[in-house]
Amino acid sequence: MALDLVLLGPPGSGKGTQAARMTEKYGIPAIASGDILRAQADAGTPLGRLVRSYLDRGELVPDQLVVDIIRHRLSEPDTEAGFILDGFPRTVPQAQALDTMLAELDRPLDAVLYLQVEGPALRERLDHRHRRDDRPDIVDHRLDVFLDQTAPLIGYYRDQGKLRLIDGAQPPERVAAAIDEVIRPLLGAGGAPSRPSSRR
Ligand code: AMP
Repeated sequence: MALDLVLLGPPGSGKGTQAARMTEKYGIPAIASGDILRAQADAGTPLGRLVRSYLDRGELVPDQLVVDIIRHRLSEPDTEAGFILDGFPRTVPQAQALDTMLAELDRPLDAVLYLQVEGPALRERLDHRHRRDDRPDIVDHRLDVFLDQTAPLIGYYRDQGKLRLIDGAQPPERVAAAIDEVIRPLLGAGGAPSRPSSRR
């Protein structure tokens, strides 16, 4: 049984920290769309320069671009036992594209973990980071973009019965424990995800 997860939450909610820990604990890769896009931007190619223009403004890159990146990444063999998507999907069309992609692979998502943290706490956390899109005005815009474009995914996944709420305002080790509680029943008897027995 594979363990296929999405980590959903506003910027600064701790997705990256938890994804890294989950990779370690469950042995499945964390796939951070923001990291992949930053690497593209740094490559300085024409596509990279286009991506950079979105990142620096705190805007989402076009759906098709990021959907193609994720489709490609999910075809890598290390995702066989599962994956943790961090920062994707971020719009309803992206979520629909992911559902289609996973339906083709006959491996629906197991759960969507929503790390809930309110605005003031997020701003406080992002003030302590040093990414080039963590400037206060850009942070405010990224939070608005989250509310406008990404928050609708909460209802989308609730309707699918996949949404699990996690109080992300707690200290990281408490958040980790809450996540582990949600994951435990999803694991096979062996306690760790294993490769799916049949693939199409
Ligand atoms: P993150 O590292 O997840 O905070 O993402 C940093 C930036 O990358 C975002 O502000 C967007 O510009 C871009 N980005 C990351 N993931 C996505 C996505 N799924 N869709 C569109 N843009 C994204």
